[in-house]
Amino acid sequence: MRTLAFFLSTLLLAQAPIETMDGTDPTRDGLNLTEPIRVTENIWVAIGFGNTYLVKTSAGNVIIDTSLPNHAQRHVKMLKAVAPGPIRYIVLTHGHGDHTGGVALWKEPGTRVVAQKNFVEFQHYQARLAGFFGLRNRAQFGAGIGDRAAISGASRGNYPANIVATDLFDDRFEFEVGGVKFEVHATPGETYDHATVWIPAWKAAFPGDNIYGSFPNIYTLRGTQPRWALDYVNSLNKILSWKPELMLPSHGRPVAGWANIQTAATRYRDAILHVHDATVQGMNDGKDVYTLMREVKLPKELDLGEGYGTLAWSVRGIYEGYAGWFDGNPSTMFATPPAAIYPGLVRMAGGASAVAGAAQKLLGENKLLEALHLADAALTAEPGNRIALEVRLSAFQQMLKQSRNSNERGWLNFGIQETRRKMAQP
Ligand SMILES: [Zn+2]
Repeated sequence: MRTLAFFLSTLLLAQAPIETMDGTDPTRDGLNLTEPIRVTENIWVAIGFGNTYLVKTSAGNVIIDTSLPNHAQRHVKMLKAVAPGPIRYIVLTHGHGDHTGGVALWKEPGTRVVAQKNFVEFQHYQARLAGFFGLRNRAQFGAGIGDRAAISGASRGNYPANIVATDLFDDRFEFEVGGVKFEVHATPGETYDHATVWIPAWKAAFPGDNIYGSFPNIYTLRGTQPRWALDYVNSLNKILSWKPELMLPSHGRPVAGWANIQTAATRYRDAILHVHDATVQGMNDGKDVYTLMREVKLPKELDLGEGYGTLAWSVRGIYEGYAGWFDGNPSTMFATPPAAIYPGLVRMAGGASAVAGAAQKLLGENKLLEALHLADAALTAEPGNRIALEVRLSAFQQMLKQSRNSNERGWLNFGIQETRRKMAQP
């Protein structure tokens, strides 16, 4: 059995830019790297929108996550060049496309593909809504990323996914390759099929997407089922209980040393718990979701940065995850939305141009969100109103200039494109 001291001595720090988690967008970091990073004697990572890890053993290799289809080819080439050998296992930390995209490229006859059992329903859920997610992903991530082949308005049925996993487990799965024991643990968080790989001999944990260098996306704007905050907390506690010396997340860079990992994972857990508990407290106090989106903040020592997820979206994700869509106002429980009376209101206010002019004034006062809402009202009355479209475009452009959040930037860019498209119409 290799000792921890041996393991630490094999950490190839010179070649591995090991970083602490710094709040920048973890999905964009390192995409330009043309070489994999050798983390230890036997572990390599190809960084991408979804990292691919390769663990080398004397009896073949184990792959942990496989990135997006358009990154996977590069990852396979890079990793096979430095660590050739048969692929004995592929472990998928969860069923998102940026983790499963390269399975077909790695899989050989006899390769086992391991996933948590909820992977099956998660795959069907994503395939069931392929048209919806195709459009949402294209908007959020820009046209270059996302499975465009999946975009289709036609329903493919309720259970249409092709399940690539060969070995499904409930709570825990173990296997051994070349004398190295791998444990795979159910760790729900970002998804309900989420798993963490643990190599006890090397004290190495692969937590997938349950921790990265930003406050998590407890709700993602492209649409998601509830991501339960307390699942993240429990799963991070499970990982902390192992006292890892190496943490190898599926976005961003590896983190080395128990002290660093303990600090990072504890802060991450406590930040999620803080936001969860503050939201629950606010709900019990009778506060509405928008109030809590504005009010819930993290103390400075728990500020993880909001390069990817944000507190406000997460607060709403937690609130509506627990309560669903109804806001408690009996006026809103029917199929007629508040916007149905906008055209009448706009008429009373002097017409679409008058309202758009008022929106323009708000824009000048830097009240961008109020300007957007007012422009939207004008546009319900007159969809092609030039001034309202200009207000919308300008507000999105100004917000984009200030935004440091990649998902927010994706949707602002989408708004800009959509508005320009409408402005180009005769
Ligand atoms: Zn991911």
